[in-house]
Amino acid sequence: MAPPTYLIVGASLAGAKAAEALRAGGFDGRVVLVGEEQEAPYERPPLSKGYLMGRQDRETIFVHPQRWYTDNAIDLRLGTTANVLDPGSKTVTISTGETVAYDKLLLATGASPRRLPVPGADLDGVLYLRSVRDSERIRDTFQHASRVAFVGGGWIGLEVAAAAREAGVEATVLEAGELPLLRVLGPQIAHVFADLHREHGVDLRVSAHVSEIVDSGGGKAAGVRLADGSLIEADAVIVGIGASANTALAADAGLQVDNGVVVDAALRTSYPDIFAVGDVANAFHPLLGKHVRVEHWANALHQPEVAARSMLGERAFYERVPYFFTDQYDLGMEYAGYAEPGSYDDVVVRGDLAGRAFIAFWLADGRVLAGMNVNIWDVNDAIQHLVRSGSAVERAALADPDVPLDQLITV
Ligand code: FAD
Ligand code: NAP
Repeated sequence: MAPPTYLIVGASLAGAKAAEALRAGGFDGRVVLVGEEQEAPYERPPLSKGYLMGRQDRETIFVHPQRWYTDNAIDLRLGTTANVLDPGSKTVTISTGETVAYDKLLLATGASPRRLPVPGADLDGVLYLRSVRDSERIRDTFQHASRVAFVGGGWIGLEVAAAAREAGVEATVLEAGELPLLRVLGPQIAHVFADLHREHGVDLRVSAHVSEIVDSGGGKAAGVRLADGSLIEADAVIVGIGASANTALAADAGLQVDNGVVVDAALRTSYPDIFAVGDVANAFHPLLGKHVRVEHWANALHQPEVAARSMLGERAFYERVPYFFTDQYDLGMEYAGYAEPGSYDDVVVRGDLAGRAFIAFWLADGRVLAGMNVNIWDVNDAIQHLVRSGSAVERAALADPDVPLDQLITV
């Protein structure tokens, strides 16, 4: 009998970690890893930080060394798109024209930048950041541009604006909301990031509604026109207005799709032999009691192990506390938990908010939903423990840096 084929679509962090986890879990059948990018699987966080700033070498961004794929008998098909999924015949047709039959399928197709829906958005010099090529293009731009406008004050906008300032480029950040990161952090903590950028010379404009990218006359972006008529002149425009899950393959095949590919806690889709992980997966999270789609590195790093175990027939659930990090100028932070707007009724700060060395906690009924350590290290495990415990904590003790975090859980 032919050995079983486990097919992974999407060769980035989640896809590569899934291939690793299948082999680590003892799977000795055929593993086919299909990715539409030309590069072997790589990590994206450096693309807006160390790699973009020229501080990190190209070879350090890859998930595995090139030879790992041959050493582990992973059939890696780069520059190859999965075009059609037929769950009935259990096949995927790829861009080479070949039809790959699978026994189990994992979707790790990730997310793509949302496009700016205004006139002029397709001009030369309007840039997005998702791939290593995009990062290299932006790095080149910083070498000859004197001013850059950013549309969107989210993670991409802020991290890349920090890189622009470090490269000596003038930066204007245009955020549609009342503050950058307002939805994720709430007003008090979002102000920390607004102040940080303004102190580093960023012209941060909030409630800024972009109506047009202005043409220099030669088909190249010359600036951004806002709805109030004002013009921000710029040599390039970098757009970071969010990402949407790459669900077309799944949706066309009739899988349940709702803000991503819907999976259960075992990361299984509405078809029993098809699984999904990473940015594309809207997964039921047992701790949170609902489906969440997390667009962050740690999720793409850790979900694949659970999916691989599920694919191998084990009972496994993904229930890690959501986690992400950022680095901007001299600020480093880690965030653990999940606190949507409206889900919390209190924010507690421990430490020095003005000096940007603190921990912030988001609470509901005295229970910690999320915590974020800024320029304070080796505390994130304790924060995750607080979130996971679901116990009420005493507010004064939470705010007091002299009370160790691991002594806060009383019940
Ligand atoms: P992706 O990385 O999106 O990869 C999906 C892959 O699938 C892509 O290579 C795509 O080309 C391929 N693909 C899609 N459709 C098909 C198809 N039909 N056929 C074949 N291949 C297909 N998170 C943090 O927590 N901290 C950070 O500091 C941080 N920094 C980031 C910086 C940048 C610039 C970006 C873009 C993201 C950052 N993130 C960060 C988020 C993190 O990188 C993502 O959560 C992670 O990359 C998701 O991995 P993934 O494998 O699920 O999806
Ligand atoms: P993002 O973090 O979702 O931020 C997008 C920002 O743009 C939001 O503040 C949004 O405001 C704003 N916005 C939306 N439409 C706008 C418009 N037309 N004009 C001006 N502002 C607008 O997305 P991103 O920064 O583009 O990042 C893309 C993906 O990469 C995300 O998945 C992100 O998680 C990931 N990433 C993560 C990190 C990290 O974890 N450190 C770093 C880089 C990238 P509203 O919220 O009000 O819509």
